[in-house]
Amino acid sequence: MAKDNKNHCSFCGRAEDDVNLLFYGISGFICDECAEIAHNAIEESRRKNGDFSLTLAEIPKPREIKEFLDQYVIGQDDAKKYLSVAVYNHYKRILQPKSDDSVEIEKSNIILVGRTGTGKTLLARSIARCLHVPFTIVDATVLTEAGYVGEDIESILTRLLQVADYNVKAAERGIVFIDEIDKIARKGDNPSITRDVSGEGVQQGLLKLLEGSIVNVPPQGGRKHPDQKMIPVNTQNILFICGGAFDGIERKIAQRLNTHVVGFGSVNETNAVDRDNLLQYIAPQDLKAFGLIPEIIGRLPILTYLNPLDREALRRILTEPKNSIVNQYVKLFAMDGVKLTITDDALDYIVDKAIEFRLGARGLRSIAETVMMDAMYDTPSSDTRELTVDRDYAASKLEKANLHLRQMA
Ligand code: ADP
Repeated sequence: MAKDNKNHCSFCGRAEDDVNLLFYGISGFICDECAEIAHNAIEESRRKNGDFSLTLAEIPKPREIKEFLDQYVIGQDDAKKYLSVAVYNHYKRILQPKSDDSVEIEKSNIILVGRTGTGKTLLARSIARCLHVPFTIVDATVLTEAGYVGEDIESILTRLLQVADYNVKAAERGIVFIDEIDKIARKGDNPSITRDVSGEGVQQGLLKLLEGSIVNVPPQGGRKHPDQKMIPVNTQNILFICGGAFDGIERKIAQRLNTHVVGFGSVNETNAVDRDNLLQYIAPQDLKAFGLIPEIIGRLPILTYLNPLDREALRRILTEPKNSIVNQYVKLFAMDGVKLTITDDALDYIVDKAIEFRLGARGLRSIAETVMMDAMYDTPSSDTRELTVDRDYAASKLEKANLHLRQMA
């Protein structure tokens, strides 16, 4: 006990008046800050030992995960729902007691199909923000069969090991998002006679990871370190989420739907097919027709789709997500002490142009950049304190830029 007759934290020595909370023990005290430091140290040590420290009650429920995704991704409710449930079930699987041999929860890998620029990668990145397990995004286009130029399949797990700080136990319950899975589809519907570097052979290699096996992973990736010691990683509990645009798959879907319409047990006439968004009818056989091998399709039992973005969705993307394009510009200008306002008709104009140029959501940013470029260049060295971007201003900047391009052509 200190001389001042006050209670002090037994760890940092601060008096009760100097801390927010002081917890009383049998023969000592701990303040809120020291308790937090201790808590973090325990978490860290658990993580290092590969323990999963959360209980089911602490894990976000599917609805909470979806609400979290809603802050970053506009629309795409079906895909969000499927992802949320898959992630929640993934947690349940890694929490199931090892001794419980009655029912074993198996993993359900997912495949997301949607046109480019509809938010597949954004969904993956956003979900990574709320996960309590290691997560990595890899691009299937760089994968090739062992022995060819490019990365080996095992490099997928190298990335996961790296984000898990080489903690194998933690990596073994991680989640991997494989982007552009359609790029490893077999070219043409016939099995190839010669080996195709980026097609079926890669799918066979991937199959090994998806179905759950022990894979020897090079810790540094690549073949630059031929004598590195391999790390065995069990992929049984690693959840794989695959995403791809599958350009032209609508044709395969349409063909299948048409055959069904004439065939026996056809789609009911009243169930009119929405020809503008055929992806919503996607089925595993369409993936097969596109060139994924049936074994891979079988290992990706959850198939869901993303909607094409319409005018309303594009308009919402500009302002609604937490780090929307507009919020980012407002912040950039605020850092220079400038109050930026972008009027509604200027935003409508940007959306119109993105649609006109067929650029989708990706185009919104490039158009907005063109509109804002002069202001971003000039305002920091001027004494402007307020800037309003309206439709006329946006149109003049964009037309000027287009003129340059036309002159260059
Ligand atoms: P994909 O992976 O489907 O090709 P991305 O997720 O990379 O597309 O999307 C490209 C960009 O477009 C994102 O960074 C984001 O700014 C924007 N975007 C696309 N779809 C959405 C959406 N549904 N909600 C919010 N922003 C979106």
